[in-house]
Amino acid sequence: MSKDGDVTMKQEYKTKARGLIIDYLQQNAGVRFTARDVFEQLKAVGENIDRATVYRNLEKLCTEGKLLRYRENDSQAACYQYSEGHEQCDRHLHAQCLSCGRVFHLENEFVEEFEKKIQATYGIGVDCSKTMIVGRCDDCKTE
Ligand SMILES: [Zn+2]
Ligand SMILES: [Zn+2]
Repeated sequence: MSKDGDVTMKQEYKTKARGLIIDYLQQNAGVRFTARDVFEQLKAVGENIDRATVYRNLEKLCTEGKLLRYRENDSQAACYQYSEGHEQCDRHLHAQCLSCGRVFHLENEFVEEFEKKIQATYGIGVDCSKTMIVGRCDDCKTE
């Protein structure tokens, strides 16, 4: 096979992998999952996308602000959640319910003010992509 053909095939594989992963995300909007879940699901439907490709695509979607990455308590694996309708998840803070795992996008002006005040008072620039406020949501409080 010529070198060009090889490059084209790699490109096709990449595009296909990304498409499949985005399909998965859209079908699972609002659900938290791990890279392994995506890999297993693709495998289950007969798509042969390797783990490294899945991982790389998820990371890329995070940097594009389309996907939210966080770590659950006691969990080694990073969890992801598709942030449909919430553009640029790397630019605002999030809160997660410790009981149900739901993630809230804190896209409110006062939250931005809060970040600015932390910066002004303590000289800390909050890294939104790595910060998760944890607590219990209204639905879980009654338990
Ligand atoms: Zn968000
Ligand atoms: Zn909850």
